[in-house]
Amino acid sequence: MSVSPPEAARRGAQAPPPGPRRWLGLLVVVALTCGGVAYAVEQREDDARSRPPVTATPSAPPNQSNKPPSKTAAAIAARRLAVDTILLRRAKAVRTGNERLFLADVDPADTKLRQEQRTLFANLVDLRFAEIGYSQAEERFDQTVVREHGPSTYLVRVLMRYQIPKVDHDPVTTELGYTFVSRGGRWIITDDDDLDDELGPTAHREPWDLGRIEVRRGPRVLAIVEKGDTDRAEAIVAEANEALAQVAGYWPRRWRGSVLIAALDDTEVRDARFADEDVESAASAGSTFTSLPGQDTADGTVGGAYIVVNPKERDRIDEILLSHEITHVATADLGGYEPLWLAEGAAEYVSWRGIEAVSGPGEVAQWEQEVIDQALPGLSALPSDLGFYQSNADVYGVSWLAVRFLVRELGIRAVEELYEDLARHGTDQANRDRILLTRTGYTEATLWISLKAYRPQR
Ligand SMILES: [Zn+2]
Repeated sequence: MSVSPPEAARRGAQAPPPGPRRWLGLLVVVALTCGGVAYAVEQREDDARSRPPVTATPSAPPNQSNKPPSKTAAAIAARRLAVDTILLRRAKAVRTGNERLFLADVDPADTKLRQEQRTLFANLVDLRFAEIGYSQAEERFDQTVVREHGPSTYLVRVLMRYQIPKVDHDPVTTELGYTFVSRGGRWIITDDDDLDDELGPTAHREPWDLGRIEVRRGPRVLAIVEKGDTDRAEAIVAEANEALAQVAGYWPRRWRGSVLIAALDDTEVRDARFADEDVESAASAGSTFTSLPGQDTADGTVGGAYIVVNPKERDRIDEILLSHEITHVATADLGGYEPLWLAEGAAEYVSWRGIEAVSGPGEVAQWEQEVIDQALPGLSALPSDLGFYQSNADVYGVSWLAVRFLVRELGIRAVEELYEDLARHGTDQANRDRILLTRTGYTEATLWISLKAYRPQR
């Protein structure tokens, strides 16, 4: 049986900054090689490049030259109260399953918006949030939106704080932009996408924002598919169960969380941008935040990660692909400061252990030799975060080889502890160097030299 080895890809994503890689997706890419063999290849994508500023700086809206018309303090306070009340009502409507209440503040003249909101409401109810709430962040101003909706227009960034049972260990936050207008002395929501381009990459692109969904649950899996795509949802749950067992079996961290997997029609879900890619990614694991970047700290705080599957690759979801992604999910909350070669190498390591269990050591040994013979000569150092995705070399294969080498030298437990330490404390290169040297006796330079000299025992 020919398995699809997880492997490397590259894409035009900007290299992440040396510290945290927050708005990231961890992608599994599928490319067809010239031999016609499907290789699952993968990549972590950094969206920092395209990330608009999300820092809560009310004094610095995008177009400062166009200030909103001045209002009296009393008018602003009254508006604030009215909008807060609407947001409270929306959350209560979801909690109590009351569609009429959810639609009560939506523009009665806008049939399309009302229909979309009906869909959103049904989705939110299906997710059975343990907690849901909306709050106003800062006002934004956009003259074109005012032209469209009139002088009372109030455009505001809204934080949605929620917790999906089992999936989100702690409540997490996502962003929205709502446009309110005052009509007949009453505030209503008249648009929900005017701010989308100025918010973070997951804003208004969560799986429940995009169309009517269906939710299927396993003991530690929540699959989200298009309404009616039930067979796929069930297949995902089954494959994810296998993959969870592999991650538990081959990665020592005792992670007992559940994984959310969205497999929808859309090519843009959360921070995944499958349509933009040169190489087709099969899936992506993108962070969730208990505190968004810029909210309390510049980096934000990662709560976990959700997996998003490329619509074109939905028929090829298997445990191998998912075990790679779930390794990312199972390490996401550690902090995200580990070097990419370690993050991707560890995910590849788990996937390959799964392949080894199915097909025996031969295939893995062959792949290892190919990486040594073909990939290593194309590099002159361990793959750095900078340029990881621009590299034409097989940085994923080399990362996997490095982790495999460390596991042979030190044992899997020591490698897992190294990972944890780096993920939590590898905030800059000096810290990374210190942690790596202390825990392994290697620097990145001497580890590279050892890899070059590595001749696996067969
Ligand atoms: Zn990955």
